Amino acid sequence: MEGRELRRVLDAHQLIARAYKDDRFPTTGRGGDFRMFVITWIWVIQIERCPKDDRWARITNVLGIRNNFQLRELIASDAPRYEPEDRGAWHAPCPAPMIRRDGLCERRGSIRVRVTNPEDGTWRPDWYCSRHRKEAHQAQEHERALLASGKVPEPLPNRGGLGPSYLRWKWANVYRWAAGAIWEPPAVGLCADNWPVMAKVIGQEPPALELLEGDGEASGWPGGAPGLRLVEGSGGRG
Ligand SMILES: [Zn+2]
Repeated sequence: MEGRELRRVLDAHQLIARAYKDDRFPTTGRGGDFRMFVITWIWVIQIERCPKDDRWARITNVLGIRNNFQLRELIASDAPRYEPEDRGAWHAPCPAPMIRRDGLCERRGSIRVRVTNPEDGTWRPDWYCSRHRKEAHQAQEHERALLASGKVPEPLPNRGGLGPSYLRWKWANVYRWAAGAIWEPPAVGLCADNWPVMAKVIGQEPPALELLEGDGEASGWPGGAPGLRLVEGSGGRG
């Protein structure tokens, strides 16, 4: 093996190792597969040296992706966005303050109210119980007025954005293809490496490795709908 070839293989292994260790990837839910999507791409391009035209067939085959719906869902799971931190189960304790004693009501809530932080635009769901319907409606009114004021900043993204950390694609197009027209690219950029929230999570060195040149650029996808044809067309392993 030539030196250059060896280097290429070692780089790929390093990049794969980094993806395995990168705990910004969600471990549960549909996002759990996105790590494997990234790793499979690195493997197929860099180690297998799969010819460009066959890559999508190989990827969808390895990952068991059967149609574009699945592919879109997988990629949309990595679309950069803000999501409120999980406050546990639905129907969290009612946050209405009690009048005759200190503390909060804490009865099981059933009325959901979105509560936005005007400083940074982040929000969370509150759940009011049926006895505090009035308080819930007041909170709802307050929220409506706040959002209508136009003064609430865009919250920093705290989910997704991992694809651009590994693969050099035109991710804005790719995410839009997957997540649809309502998705907006965050002002801080698409790559999670550049977000304060996610940088804190990984809390260490920026990637020293070269990003891989992928297929998101050249081969005309996402318009070209890679997944379908490939799986139907070939039974064999690429
Ligand atoms: Zn209550």
